[in-house]
Amino acid sequence: AIRVRYAPSPTGHLHIGNARTAIFNYLFARHNKGKFIIRIEDTDTKRNVEDGERSQLENLKWLGLDWDEGPDKPGDFGPYRQSERQDIYTPLIQQLMDEGKAYESYRTEEELEADREAQKARGEMPHYEYEYAGMTDEERQAAIEAAKAKGLKPVIRFRVPKNHDFAWDDIVKGNVSFNSDSIGGDFVIAKRDGMPTYNFAVVVDDHLMKISHVFRGDDHVANTPKQLMIYEAFGWQAPQFGHMSLIISADTGKKLSKRDETVLQFIEQYRDLGYLPEAMFNFIVLLGWSPVGEDEIFSVKDFIKMYDEKRLSKSPAKFDSKKLEWINNQYVKASDEDVVMDLALQQLIKAGNLPADPDTKTIEWARKLINVYKQQMSYMAQINEMAEVFFHEPEMVSGDALAEIQNETAPVVLKEFRDRIADLPIFDKVQILATIKQIQKDTGIKGRKLWMPIRIAVTHEMHGPELPESIELVGKETAVKHVQQTLD
Ligand code: GLU
Repeated sequence: AIRVRYAPSPTGHLHIGNARTAIFNYLFARHNKGKFIIRIEDTDTKRNVEDGERSQLENLKWLGLDWDEGPDKPGDFGPYRQSERQDIYTPLIQQLMDEGKAYESYRTEEELEADREAQKARGEMPHYEYEYAGMTDEERQAAIEAAKAKGLKPVIRFRVPKNHDFAWDDIVKGNVSFNSDSIGGDFVIAKRDGMPTYNFAVVVDDHLMKISHVFRGDDHVANTPKQLMIYEAFGWQAPQFGHMSLIISADTGKKLSKRDETVLQFIEQYRDLGYLPEAMFNFIVLLGWSPVGEDEIFSVKDFIKMYDEKRLSKSPAKFDSKKLEWINNQYVKASDEDVVMDLALQQLIKAGNLPADPDTKTIEWARKLINVYKQQMSYMAQINEMAEVFFHEPEMVSGDALAEIQNETAPVVLKEFRDRIADLPIFDKVQILATIKQIQKDTGIKGRKLWMPIRIAVTHEMHGPELPESIELVGKETAVKHVQQTLD
């Protein structure tokens, strides 16, 4: 049976790269009618952040993922938090020790550091050196007793087989092989506090949870041989692995770094800006996977139907925020009006352009405003910038705009416009358009000479949405006031 998992460490918010791992596992599970499991890998207690788990799960849900088993969804293979599985790990660690496949190591951090320095000085790659090498059993026992007497606590190290190739057929990368001598020596499987390390716990859990396939980031490739050794030590069959290519920045060509604050990399940040979850999902799937053909916009359902892990790309995925904007704009345009309204309204409120609790009249007005910009918005927060002219008293007219109203006909147009709109009983774009047409007829002034002075006087800008709509949004009173100011 197909069972895959996404195994986040609750060390922060949901990163784009992790979201991608989750999504590819999810698509693989759903396409194959298998199970998708969430497991929280929280044994590195120093790195856990408060709220990390909740935030991870919440953002996955926002992206549209659901799972069959997880910390919030009981199943037959729980608990689904590693911190609650100590009772499972402890006897298995003991078993490896009893079989001589693992041992207690009392080396202090200082001693290990000194070893590494000496190795570097000799021109060797830093690696762990077996501290009991060359000792007889009695000597070893004595060394251990002496360390214990000093109150030292041991880590447990896995005894790495010498000069042995560990290879697997990677779903993405093809054949990968590591010689055991190249992985840095006997590695730690349990820390001084008895907590298992990632490489140990992940094997135990993937085995006991009957995980059939592991899709994860390329950054884990070097862990895989260590994990294969542990599978072998227990006599368990390893799952199939697929390591997905790196994500690089389209701008710099370098690996996306979480520390680079010029690129937004956390799902939460996009959510805050008013991106749509379906668009994010769509964008993320295209990071390292491609459908057959040219089309790039697909629903989750479509992706599930067409998903094929063989189309995961070997070469790095380019993270291009312009493409994300383009995709999101496609979704905004196709979205239900209510969805867009809701999200854009939230953005207007958040920016302080609307009161926190707008009345019906304000909402009515905002609806018109949002409709004007809907086609252009890549993400909802842009409404604040795009519609700026409707929220603030405009700057003084200057430069090119000033030239447009310093001619003989402009005052004529503006006076007519002021008097006629002041008398309009219904102030909407239809009436406003009719009024402007009437001015044209009565004065014989037309084209740019007619439209431009009105636009500039009302909005102080040379560009903007359709003029009648713009004027309607500015409102009668303000429009009259602005025109009067220009005439003065
Ligand atoms: N907890 C690991 C991580 O967040 C999971 C790695 C794996 O999928 O094996 O990177």
